[in-house]
Amino acid sequence: MSDIQNDLLLFNELVQVLLEEEKKHPVAKRIDADVLYDTIDLSLKDEAMLDVSLKETLKDVLVATPKTATNLFFNQLFGGRQSKAVLGDLLAVLLNNSMYTYKVAGPQVGIEQEIIRKSCDIIGYGDKSNGTFPTGGSMSNYMALIMARDAKDPEGRYRGVTQNLTMYTSKESHYSNAKNASFAGLGRNNVRYIEADTEGRMLSKKLEEQIIADIEEGYVPTFINATAGTTVLGAFDPIEEIAVISEKYNVWLHVDGAYCGSVIFSESKKHLIKGVDKSDSFSYNAHKMIGTPLTCSIILVKDKKQLHDSFSNEADYLYQTDGDDFNLGKTSFQCGRRNDALKFWTLWKSVGTQGLEKIVNQQFDLANTARDYVANHPDYTLYSYPDAISVCFNYKNIDPKELCTLLYQHQVAVVGFGAFNETNFIRLVTINATNIKEDILNFFKAIEVFVDENQNLIEAVD
Ligand SMILES: *Cc1c(COP(=O)(O)O)cnc(C)c1O
Repeated sequence: MSDIQNDLLLFNELVQVLLEEEKKHPVAKRIDADVLYDTIDLSLKDEAMLDVSLKETLKDVLVATPKTATNLFFNQLFGGRQSKAVLGDLLAVLLNNSMYTYKVAGPQVGIEQEIIRKSCDIIGYGDKSNGTFPTGGSMSNYMALIMARDAKDPEGRYRGVTQNLTMYTSKESHYSNAKNASFAGLGRNNVRYIEADTEGRMLSKKLEEQIIADIEEGYVPTFINATAGTTVLGAFDPIEEIAVISEKYNVWLHVDGAYCGSVIFSESKKHLIKGVDKSDSFSYNAHKMIGTPLTCSIILVKDKKQLHDSFSNEADYLYQTDGDDFNLGKTSFQCGRRNDALKFWTLWKSVGTQGLEKIVNQQFDLANTARDYVANHPDYTLYSYPDAISVCFNYKNIDPKELCTLLYQHQVAVVGFGAFNETNFIRLVTINATNIKEDILNFFKAIEVFVDENQNLIEAVD
């Protein structure tokens, strides 16, 4: 047998270990960071390691690694396991293409383009649209900002930014906006954080006031970032209202749908991003709501010329055959690029767009289950609004940060906390569409039992 055949057998054996472990210990035993290197042997040595020892070491690592696919992981904006997407990703690893040229990626180029074309159709972007697969949602936002900057200040690409460009995003938007402003040469001080309403949605009236004030002071409004699914509350900014302002003042509108942009696949939920067809760019992370393995982020651009203007460089050593439409390196940030499309395509192909819709709808159903439970239980306080898959709450006035830490330390559940308008709370994210209603109810039961049985721990931290 060849090395790869042997190692795939080993892989299967290790997968069995992992799946068993996920059943037995859905929350992995936490290793404190300060004793990590003493607990598992992670050291790299001069000598080779015997295969049998390597296998044991890999098992130790698998067992100790946090489990993100189980029904007790609610910590971040991803989770669960869509097995057809895993299959596609495993094949992408074996194939190991780089997505920059048709010469080395062949049909994988068509697979990526089909996802982009279909997504553009769904949001109503028209014939001139296209897109690419950046490394994640932060990079998608960055690429959008660069295109906006170049559209507003085309000379800037050669001479550096010379005007006082400003950008606009809500207080509740993702932190990548601040970093991106610095990378793109606008500067962090030129990010205007627009107030949100009581449910976390950008106030378009405040946006317009700020733009007017900036123009009066000689600034050049360049980029508006609207969010479809804010990081804490999962709120949707009013895109249609914001689009009117973007058009009126000729400012690029990007819709950051990293978290919840996948509502485009749901007939009953896509009204939440009504007006997206009027935006200049839109991004979504299939590794969040769709449940593909990390990372799978897509940015769509209404006019593909903007992508080319900002990201294409001639490189004869690279682009030796085929046209621009097949040489995807001409619209990407990096040179060598991982194939993130195959996993999404394998899933989409197997379940159809209707299957994607079910995946999306399930998360809203689970969120409703959680919200109903919390709202009807006197020991809980709810800080969450309809149409959000982040269900924020507190239990018995226990400090949420302490409770989350205790739940994790005692292998009860992995869940995070957040804050909105100075209130801290636990944030349950119902993004794992393989969960069922009972999983959500079990989560609450697990908290209640834990608190009941561990009064001493809770009091100790109060
Ligand atoms: C997750 C998220 C991002 C960042 O995406 P990454 O893929 O983690 O870089 C950006 N914006 C929003 C709203 C997000 O939820």
